[in-house]
Formats: sequence, structure tokens, C-alpha cells
Amino acid sequence: MPGTDAAVRSTLEAYAPATGDVLGSVPVASAADVHAAIAEAREVQRLWAQLRLADRARYMARAAQAVIDESEEVVALVSREQGRPRAEAELHELLPTIETLQWLAQNGPKILSGERVALSRVLHPLTRARWRYEPLGVVGVIGAATEPFATPLGDVAVALMAGNGVVLKPSPHGALSGERVARVFARAGLPEGLLAVVHGHADAGQALVDGAVDQVRFTGSLRAGRGVLERCAQGVKRAVLEMGGKDAALVCADANVARAIEGIAWGAFANAGQSGGSVKRVLAVREVGDAVVQGLVAQAVARRLGDPRDADTEIGPLVTHDRRDRVRELLDDAVAAGATLHCGGPVEVEGLSGAFCAPAVLSRVPPGARILREEAPGPVVVVSVVDDEEAAIAAVNESALGLGASVWTADRYKGARIARELRVGMVWMNQHLVSRSAPQLPWGGIGGSGLGRARGAIALRTCAEPKVTTWDPPRGRPFWWFPYDGALADSGRAIARLRSARDADRERALRDGTVPLGRIAVRVGRALRSPARTRR
Ligand code: NAD
Repeated sequence: MPGTDAAVRSTLEAYAPATGDVLGSVPVASAADVHAAIAEAREVQRLWAQLRLADRARYMARAAQAVIDESEEVVALVSREQGRPRAEAELHELLPTIETLQWLAQNGPKILSGERVALSRVLHPLTRARWRYEPLGVVGVIGAATEPFATPLGDVAVALMAGNGVVLKPSPHGALSGERVARVFARAGLPEGLLAVVHGHADAGQALVDGAVDQVRFTGSLRAGRGVLERCAQGVKRAVLEMGGKDAALVCADANVARAIEGIAWGAFANAGQSGGSVKRVLAVREVGDAVVQGLVAQAVARRLGDPRDADTEIGPLVTHDRRDRVRELLDDAVAAGATLHCGGPVEVEGLSGAFCAPAVLSRVPPGARILREEAPGPVVVVSVVDDEEAAIAAVNESALGLGASVWTADRYKGARIARELRVGMVWMNQHLVSRSAPQLPWGGIGGSGLGRARGAIALRTCAEPKVTTWDPPRGRPFWWFPYDGALADSGRAIARLRSARDADRERALRDGTVPLGRIAVRVGRALRSPARTRR
């Protein structure tokens, strides 16, 4: 890290949330370190931006290979540092990373290639035009605690593929995973300094946002994201924000209820309910309400909590003890307000000191309960039985957060209709969280869930600016250059009338415009023969 003086620098310890074991430590970056990293990335980026898209794509392919080559270590680290069960680390951290990098390698060049554009031959007879995507410069990426590897790596990869330098500030709870992101690209041979990792808490994030970055790509809470956006507004910088979610699952009467229950249980309890996009609310229509509550309770109590390194562990610890305190607070508030807590809540797991929380299912939650509005940072799901699908849609649309939602129905057309009415960024029918492992699809929400998109072609394109270039031959002249006269003004009017949908206008253009257009054509023709001639 540039400007680092390890002797006087404080360090950040990385620990395993399941056991409390210290896994390593990283130096905390001062604001000066962050700014030096940005400056160095900018310096190297100038050369990186000159590379052909196909060459940048090759780095993405090599990075994918590096992830595959180091897969055992990556999975071991993610499951230790985040507490994510090993099966999930393999399937939902490792695989999406490889998929993202290979997709960028295969599709990035085409998506970013720009195009030649045909201009109107009447107005621009000799001009050739094209536009291409130019990188923004340096992108600051800020990572969240609950998805410390695949998500920031994807943001970094998108920014690099678009030709930018990157400074990544991982979550303080994902510092080693952040280092691993850098290592993947180092193994891919990325020029030194193009990607830097700086560590720290909110102040390091603020230093990054306030530094000379051209865009911030942030993943985290609404509260922190709002602060990032305010600072970006002050500095007139672009921001892509992926913030909190309160995803709902809508279960229709015609759903395959047993399958819906399995899918919703996975969507709610995987990653201990901490993913951006975890199911937090279930809206089940009356006909299937009881079956959904009972089924989810059965699913919840069957889940195995334990050491995330074990292959058969299904629920690991929450990333921090604060999160468990918050879950407890929200459950207590809901129960005090009259809700029924069927199962789950904070628990101790023998031999492990982590903040474990057994999957919790609540029903009959009164409207005033905080859990209906606030994000519960754990495996907690609230089931509400509603009269019909319209009531379910209205309940989803009441939320200030609009990340994703799933609709469980056998009727594809009904599902599509409901999807259109839901005010969220992503709707999955008969599945939940499809987009997380599909880098082809734009990822992101509306309202308090975010601004902009993290994946898909749109993510690449918002990491770049379209730049227009045109070419005119060094002979001849456009007809609208000086000098002005009546013939020029009348020819403009004639051209406009020639484009009219009415016959009468076009006839009039020919009647009144032939002479002025002819004079202008002669003028242009003379200039073509003699580039130096400027007089009529
Ligand atoms: P957080 O907001 O506490 O921290 C996120 C990151 O922002 C961290 O790196 C943190 O150090 C940094 N940060 C905090 N305050 C900052 C500030 N003022 N300026 C700059 N940086 C700042 O969130 P978290 O606990 O790490 O993650 C959980 C949150 O992230 C949840 O709300 C979850 O829904 C959300 N999340 C969203 C998505 C998504 O795709 N929408 C994905 C994962 C997590």
C-alpha cells in the first residue's frame, strides 16, 4: 500500500465469527494512504485504458483461472472469515465469481465496443461518426460484511474490464477476503498499482469517497449508503449504491406449496439471512396461509447450525454479535406487540463462541411492529396471511426498500402480471435470488435499496462514458458555415418542409426551396473543388 509506515500504523484484526479465532491482521489506511492509492491507480490506469478490450478481457479470463486454482483456499477463507457454511462458500461465493469473470471475458469487449453511427446524409453528407466507451478513471469500491468476496470482486472486475483503476475498501469484517480479491488479480498478472486494497472502518470509506475517485460502487446499509451519496453529491461524483433489502415472497393459491416452502426457506435462511436479497417477508394468500406457516417452521427447525467449515452445516454464525443483538431486539419488539414467534432466535452452539441465531418464523405480526419496517440482520422471516394477490402486492409496495421479490405460482402469465406491479428491481418466479449467480442480469433495487445496477451489461456501461468522435474530410464545408444570407435561411426552411408528413408541405418546399437549395448546393460544390475558397 502506498505511503504505508507499518511501524506507526494501527492494525485491523480479522477473526472467525464462529470461534472468535484471530485469522490475521491488516494495516489500517489513513486518509493519506487512501489518497496515495488512488493517485497510483490513476497513474497506472492511463496505460490500462490504452489496452484493447480483448486484452483486458484476457486478464478477466486469467483471474477466473486464478480463482479456480486457489478455490480450496478461497472457500476455506470465506467460510472462516464470514462464517458462511462451506457448501454456500463453494456454490454462492466461488461459482458466481468464476461465472462473473468468465462472462466479462467473453462478453465485455462486445458490450463496451461502442458503434459507428450513420448520420443524416442531408445534414451531414460527408461526416463519419462513432462513439466508444471510455473509462471513468479510478473507481472506489466499498464492500459489505455479509458478502465479502464474490460481491466486491464482481464490482472490481466490472470496473477493471471497463478500463478503470480501482481502490477497494473491504468491510472491516471481510479484510482478508478483500486481500484475496487483490491476490486473484495479481495472479492474473494485473499491472501493479492498478488495483489497491485499503482497510479500515467508515472513516477509510469516507476518505475513499472524498478522494479523487470518479465513481463509488458501494454495497452496505441504507444509512451508510445515504452518507456516501451525500458526499458524492458534494464532489459531483457518480455513485452506484447497493443497499438494504426487505425481500418478499408472494405465495399464490395455485403455487406448488411444498416447493415454494423449500425455496423460501433457502432464500430466507441461507447465509444466515444476511444476503442482500434474503427473504424477510412472506405474503401467503389465505388458501395456503396455514400450510406455508407450518411448512416454514418445519424447514426452520430442521436446519443444522454449526461450524461453517463442516460440509453439512447449513447455518453459520452472524458476522457480528451486534447483529444478533439487533435480531433479538426486533424479535422481542414483535412479540411484545402481539406477534407469534413459532421458532428460532439467538442461541448458543456448543463449543463455538459465535453469534448464532436459529432460523426464526413469525406470524400475526401487528402493523406497528418494527420488524415490518426495519431490516432484521439474521435468518428471520415474517409470514403474513393476506386475502388475495392484490393485498400481497400492496404490502410489498408499502416498503421503502425495493430490492427483489419472488412470486410462487403455477400460472406464468399471472406471475408476469404481478411482477409488473411490484416496485422492486428484480422479480424471480418460483425461485429466489436467481440474479445473484447470474452476472448477465442487472443486479440492484429501487427506492432505499439502491441506485444503479451492479451486474449485467449496464454495470459495465455505467463504469464508462460514451465518447463521440466524428471525421470530416479536410476538403469541402458544411453548408451552414458563414456567411449567412437569405438563400441559406430559406434552404433550412425547405429542408424542414421536405421532412413533413403532409404532401402539401413537401410540394411547397419544392416550389419555394428549389432556388435557395440550388444556390447552396453550388456553394458547397465550389468549396469541394477548392478548399481554400471561402467567398461566394
Ligand atoms: P455497513 O453499511 O455497515 O458497511 C458497509 C461498508 O461501508 C463497510 O465497508 C463500511 O466500513 C463502509 N462504511 C460505513 N459507513 C461508511 C461511510 N459513512 N462512508 C463510507 N463507507 C462507509 O453494512 P454491512 O453491515 O457491512 O453490510 C450489511 C448491509 O449491506 C445490509 O443492509 C445488507 O442489506 C446490505 N447489503 C446489500 C446488498 C445488495 O446487493 N443490495 C448486498 C450485501 C449486503
